[in-house]
Amino acid sequence: MKIKAIEHIGIAVENAGQSSPFWNHLLGIKKTGHEVVEEQGVSTVIFDTGRGKIELLEALSEDSAIAKYITKKGAGIHHICLEVDDIETAITDLQSAGVNLIYDQPQVGAEGMLITFVHPRSAGGVLVELAQKPV
Ligand code: ZN
Repeated sequence: MKIKAIEHIGIAVENAGQSSPFWNHLLGIKKTGHEVVEEQGVSTVIFDTGRGKIELLEALSEDSAIAKYITKKGAGIHHICLEVDDIETAITDLQSAGVNLIYDQPQVGAEGMLITFVHPRSAGGVLVELAQKPV
């Protein structure tokens, strides 16, 4: 397994439409995507600095993980995402090292990435997403 880059930082927001102008207009980061990911229960808006993205996450329903997160902790940084060269190898390597993963099979995330998450209890309290770019 090789970590290639910080792919994005995921930010839980109450309303992506209201949060977007800060990233887009004030900071001038180009908006490159807007996508509903039903499997993850979120609507995402993506801004790309060219060297790492900002991913706004808005809950699709009250029982989505993002809605629960906001209820518990408030809006803010939800996870960081690291790009890996090979998600299958990453899962195998981390599991054999005793790391706790949320999904033991890759899921399809925003932008068609193959993803899983490392549980915060295995990563110092940080929810870490691992993503492999679609081929
Ligand atoms: Zn993410």
